[in-house]
Amino acid sequence: MAILITGGAGYIGSHTVLYFLNQGEEVIVLDNLEKGHQQAILGATFYKGSLHDEALLTELFEKHKIDAVIHFAASSLVGESVEKPLEYYENNVIGTHKLVKQMVKHDVKHIVFSSTAATYGEPKSIPIKETDPTSPTSPYGETKLAIEKLFHWCDGAYGLKSVCLRYFNAAGADPEGRIGEDHTPESHLIPIVLQVALGQREHVQIFGGDYDTKDGSCVRDYIHVMDLAEAHYLALQKLRRDDKTAIYNLGNGKGFTVKEVIETCRSVTGHPIPAVVSARRPGDPATLIASAEQANKELGWKPKYPQLEAIVRHAWNWHEAKPKGYETN
Ligand code: UDP
Repeated sequence: MAILITGGAGYIGSHTVLYFLNQGEEVIVLDNLEKGHQQAILGATFYKGSLHDEALLTELFEKHKIDAVIHFAASSLVGESVEKPLEYYENNVIGTHKLVKQMVKHDVKHIVFSSTAATYGEPKSIPIKETDPTSPTSPYGETKLAIEKLFHWCDGAYGLKSVCLRYFNAAGADPEGRIGEDHTPESHLIPIVLQVALGQREHVQIFGGDYDTKDGSCVRDYIHVMDLAEAHYLALQKLRRDDKTAIYNLGNGKGFTVKEVIETCRSVTGHPIPAVVSARRPGDPATLIASAEQANKELGWKPKYPQLEAIVRHAWNWHEAKPKGYETN
């Protein structure tokens, strides 16, 4: 039996593929390589294509005995989603609809879904629990929430069981340095700060210095990408064991300000990393911290790399060794 991982050439997807291969699972990857990198897939069977290609999906489900799907393939930038809501609904919601149609047709009952803290919007209380209200502030968050709801209704109608994993801020890289983060253009904080350390940017902008936080910059809960990868495996094990739909937050339960992240990057890299406070980025809540108690309790998930220092060190090892990412250096 094989596991289909959609979006397996992306950042979190590729680390999850690696984790599943290490567990001895047979993995099939489907990725359109718009954002992903084929070099990031270390050993799985690879199909280049999109969720919208129904003929390809049919071929894939008919050819392989797929017993579960881990679903990453999506557009995933908050700011871009505000500019291009139609594209986000098409790629995320309609794409997932096509995938689920094939799953139902081929009697595949289990899916682990890459969801997000953006489903909550501006939180009412910290730390955020799965039972807190969901009120997304972007099309990105809305599409992820719509997909969670699609799964809920498909459970009642077709017995499709899902685990939706709401990630907080994914960061870090494979501790052995084989794969890492490579977005073009880069928009995430830690890789941007490390690009300053590499001399690829002059300074990092701190988006907002007047938030109601301890130093005025935004607080986020950074979680190691390999810990996220493991959570997908544990979620699949739980689906196989209990056959029950569930939603879990994934974070360390600890927040760091943007300024603290930059300071940690300075100490890990030994570079001065100039920073400039600039305007707030629209749509950024002041503080996002997860309560991951449910995942701890029900999945038995405990992050192996909870320290920000280790997260940054693994990211730095990758960026220093591969300053141009997957592009041949
Ligand atoms: N951020 C920043 N400068 C940057 C990029 C990000 O100050 O160049 C801040 C951003 O406002 C947020 C935090 O860093 O508070 C994490 O942002 P990122 O884009 O990495 O992840 P997000 O929180 O949007 O998922």
